[in-house]
Amino acid sequence: MTNRFNRRQIIKATGAAAAVGALGMPTVALGASKKVVVVGGGPGGATCARYLKIFDPGIEVTLVEPNKTYHTCFMSNEVLGGHRTMDSIAFGYDGLKKAGINVVHDYVTAIDPEKKVVKTKGGQEFAYERCVVSPGISFRYDTIEGYDEAATEKVPHAWKAGPQTVLLRKQLEAMADGGTVVICAPPNPFRCPPGPYERASQIASYLKKAKPKSKVIILDPKEKFSKMGLFTAAWEKFYGYKTENAMIEWHGAAEEAGIVKVDVANRTVTTKFGEEIKADVLNVIPAQKAGMIAHQAGLANDSGWCPINLHTFESTLHKNIHVIGDASIAKGMPKSGYAANSEAKVCAASIAALLNGKTPPPPSYVNTCYSIAAEDWGFSVAAVYRLAKDGSKIVKVSGGLTPKDAPPEYYKREMMYAHSWFTNITRDIFGL
Ligand SMILES: Cc1cc2nc3c(=O)[nH]c(=O)nc-3n(C[C@H](O)[C@H](O)[C@H](O)COP(=O)(O)OP(=O)(O)OC[C@H]3O[C@@H](n4cnc5c(N)ncnc54)[C@H](O)[C@@H]3O)c2cc1C
Repeated sequence: MTNRFNRRQIIKATGAAAAVGALGMPTVALGASKKVVVVGGGPGGATCARYLKIFDPGIEVTLVEPNKTYHTCFMSNEVLGGHRTMDSIAFGYDGLKKAGINVVHDYVTAIDPEKKVVKTKGGQEFAYERCVVSPGISFRYDTIEGYDEAATEKVPHAWKAGPQTVLLRKQLEAMADGGTVVICAPPNPFRCPPGPYERASQIASYLKKAKPKSKVIILDPKEKFSKMGLFTAAWEKFYGYKTENAMIEWHGAAEEAGIVKVDVANRTVTTKFGEEIKADVLNVIPAQKAGMIAHQAGLANDSGWCPINLHTFESTLHKNIHVIGDASIAKGMPKSGYAANSEAKVCAASIAALLNGKTPPPPSYVNTCYSIAAEDWGFSVAAVYRLAKDGSKIVKVSGGLTPKDAPPEYYKREMMYAHSWFTNITRDIFGL
């Protein structure tokens, strides 16, 4: 009886294998290896790798990331403000390795969607059934005359945390009292919409203490910006905004304040209006697009970003490749670390389901974005999202913004929440 039962099972399995083999599909349901290769070990990639293993430990996950240490952009503005160290925003990949993920420190140079192979600079090749691409952003240097990768050594963007953050901080420290810091904000869409304004606030908080005769000028191609009311209220309260002694000035689209040219040697920028502004410390944050590998792999469209199915994050340009995080067009969600972390979980759940022959579960997405504008002065915007019924966009179902008239203790608590959010999210991303 036992033998017959086993034989029937075996026949059933072989039959199924033959059928699948004939269709040329992977024999996943029969326990063959389920291989996923993740490109990029930031909030998107690292979270996705970890959650793939959590949702299905049977998936073989390889994560390819060139750097052994990842510096978070989140809280890097606090480094510029002198409120934290670079070490406090540095994370390694031991947590991922402990979770059974094959972490490879190499740089992906090509993804072959036909052969389903990822190729690296170091000459390695990794076969996949599903590939996840989370390379973050690259810069549109061609939009600003005189500014390119080499120029960033003198005029940092500091929009990818690491040596650029250190360089900008050193320049701030070296600046004489009475100096002018110019921050050139990018056009939409870009990584971290409140980031340039938090940066201005953090730099002003440092200058207020260390170099009180100095000021920060923001040149912006936009008419308005994220959490504008909360930022300008904080600037009025702490930095004399709109007074004669303002430590922060903001100039927007109405003044044609977006820049078109940088003279790196003289740290001078030219605005659209033709005005030349000289800085003592110059921070140019250029327009952005998806990380280079997304373009090389044919995953980006004319917008410079990667179109996806908003349920599974599978590319609409190449099957079996999913794009998450800043590089993707996650219509309705901002380009933030928390959004990348949330998208990664939705994507991991979808892939785990698909590799097991199941339907991806209904998605739910979250984002909270904290900004710290002064000591003990934080605020946030939070949202929970669902997929629109027709799948065309991600829609907010609830959420909110810090009330402008909240008492000071409320803003202090928000700053504390921001710090505990940082501890929690980095644990969730890196498993440390
Ligand atoms: C100043 C600043 C402050 C911010 N503050 C916040 C905040 O408070 N809250 C928040 O939620 N978000 C914040 N963000 C935004 C957040 O940092 C990004 O949205 C987030 O990093 C996006 O994650 P990602 O995984 O898409 O890309 P990334 O973090 O850029 O990670 C991409 C990874 O891919 C790797 N990579 C790239 N190309 C390749 C390749 N070819 N092969 C292998 N690996 C590759 C890179 O080395 C990198 O490690 C801030 C950003 C800035 C600049």
